Amino acid sequence: MGTNDERPVDGAECVTIGVFARLVGLSPKALRLYDDLGLLTPARVDPVSGYRLYRPDQVGRARLVAWLRRLGMPLARIRDVGELSPTEAADAVRVYWRGVEHDTAARRQLAALLIDELSRRDTTMVDDKVSGAPPKETELVVRYAARSDRGVVRENNQDAVYAGSNLFAVADGFGADVDGRSVSASVLSALEPLDADVPAGNLLNVLDDAIRGAEMAVREFARPADSGTTLTALLRSGSRLALVHVGDSRVYVLRSSELLQITHDHTYVRALMDEGRLTAEEAASHPQRSLLTRALDGVQRADLDVQLREARAGDRYLLCSDGLHAVVTSEEIRATLTATIGDPDAAVERLVESANTRGGPDNIACVVADVEEVTTAVAR
Ligand code: MG
Repeated sequence: MGTNDERPVDGAECVTIGVFARLVGLSPKALRLYDDLGLLTPARVDPVSGYRLYRPDQVGRARLVAWLRRLGMPLARIRDVGELSPTEAADAVRVYWRGVEHDTAARRQLAALLIDELSRRDTTMVDDKVSGAPPKETELVVRYAARSDRGVVRENNQDAVYAGSNLFAVADGFGADVDGRSVSASVLSALEPLDADVPAGNLLNVLDDAIRGAEMAVREFARPADSGTTLTALLRSGSRLALVHVGDSRVYVLRSSELLQITHDHTYVRALMDEGRLTAEEAASHPQRSLLTRALDGVQRADLDVQLREARAGDRYLLCSDGLHAVVTSEEIRATLTATIGDPDAAVERLVESANTRGGPDNIACVVADVEEVTTAVAR
């Protein structure tokens, strides 16, 4: 635009782009970009020279746009925030930032998983070359039980469970059944081959392939049925446990009598709680408490949370659908798991019974997996 950009505008309260740029501490180039992107439109454009002219009261908006760009907020979202009142804009920034933190946490998990996989691959190669796999005196085994129940109110059971030596999963399906089969059962069938021995250095790829298989299973499920499912699965390789999760089924771990929920619900009410707009009590009775923000729906590529955990002898894992955790408090779940230590069958039976005693409004799925250590003789 040259030096003409610097001229004040005669007879108007508008200032040139050069003056305005100095007022807001941005370059004219940035202001032209904001205009092109629709983030900050000049008050008017001189019809003869084509120069952009700004009112001094646009300074606040220009600086807000600059700050939001520094935050990394997408352009479309900045446009929306610019239209809001300061209070609403504050809320919008808070919501955006929580999303960033959530994504960062998910990527941190993924990075940890990758670091672990890559480090093990190196170790495995050295072991193989030098001495082969070292003999082990103790190994971890898992004793498990799984149960899915229709509940008291529903006519069908769209919850599915799977438990084997290496794979533990629950899925809570929605939409119409096809040929008497629910989408959740189809997804777990797709995962079932994982239960065979998983190569130690390959957990992430194996799991990823399996999830794509599960997504295909959802896609192949009759359309247009609006069918989908939650999926929460633990895959074991030796002492490592990979957890994949989408939806509102949960994993709890009981360790030293403490019960810890290790999954994050992908629900509308959970998002409102994270934003500080809803208390736990309000969420429990919210009419939209079962509305999912993420699921395997066969339409979009699933956005799954991934975690890697070390299995420890004595840990008791519970995977369950919302048919359990929506009606049975975590304190009751803890008490039942503690009272049935060593007996996974009794644990799942009593948990299902507890949900049904409270009206059994939904299908119920429970898997209990106990990590135990066994000692084996070392071959000489
Ligand atoms: Mg349910």
